[in-house]
This record gives sequence, C-alpha cells and structure tokens, in this order.
Amino acid sequence: MTLDLRIGLGFDLHRLAPGRPCILGGIELPHDAGPVGHSDGDAVLHAVADAVLGAAGLDDLGTLFPDTDPNGEGADSRALLASCWGRVREAGWALGNLDVVIATEGPRIAPHRAAMRASIAALLEGQPEQVNVKGKSLEGMGALAGGAGVAVQVVALLRRA
Ligand SMILES: [Zn+2]
Repeated sequence: MTLDLRIGLGFDLHRLAPGRPCILGGIELPHDAGPVGHSDGDAVLHAVADAVLGAAGLDDLGTLFPDTDPNGEGADSRALLASCWGRVREAGWALGNLDVVIATEGPRIAPHRAAMRASIAALLEGQPEQVNVKGKSLEGMGALAGGAGVAVQVVALLRRA
C-alpha cells in the first residue's frame, strides 16, 4: 500500500528556569525564565522535529542528536530542525500542515503566535498558513503549573513531494 499522505505526532517537555532565554518556536519570548536543556531547550521545535520525522518514518530527534553528544551543548534548535527537515525532504516529503499546542503557565503565547508560525514555517520551507500555534493553560494543575515548565504537542501532515 502506498500512501501519499502521512501523519506524525511529536511531544516534548522542558523545565523553565530563571535567567534562561525563553526560546520557543525559534523566537525569543519576553519572559524571566526559559527552557532548560542540553540544547537551547526549544520544546516547540523539538516536538515539531519529532512530528515530521515520525510522519516520514525516520529516527526521532533524540536518536539523531543524542543529549550525550558534547557538540550539541547549547545547540540552536533551529539548526537541529533544519537538519531533520532536510532528511524528511530527501525522503520525498513536503509539508501539508502542522498543528502545535503549547501548554504552559510561563510565557504568554498568544501575542507571539504569528511570529512563531512564520518562524516554524520558514524552517520547513512552508507558509505560515500551513502552521497553526495555540497556547493552553494548565489550569494550575500538575508539575508544570505555575510556570515551572512547558509541554508541547504537535501533529504533522506530510504529502508526497
Ligand atoms: Zn526537547
């Protein structure tokens, strides 16, 4: 069976720590805490990468760029995603659309949705109309509440190039 459409799901979460730059979706948000990670901690781009890699049936981000690799220390996640996208494109796929949910009580997402859509779309050689982004409160529940962390879910649709 050959399918010309493929769907993928990505998920990531990071703690937020004071004094870290708040980089999400490839842009820096004005906030006094940012994601902690081996790379810049951009949970949005990490979940996007896993969604498109998963849709293409390729290895996941953690396998391609292990957090034990000293070269990845402080890595710019835009470069990681661009590299992942290159593999997806080489496998013969183009972007259909992405839907991104960012659950956090840290930075405000709504004022930056347009910039984030443009940033993610550019990295995937697509248009902002193909990328939706929305913020979600945690209703004060769980370990990520009160701005302690950020969790991201992404669903991606790819089409045969
Ligand atoms: Zn991550």
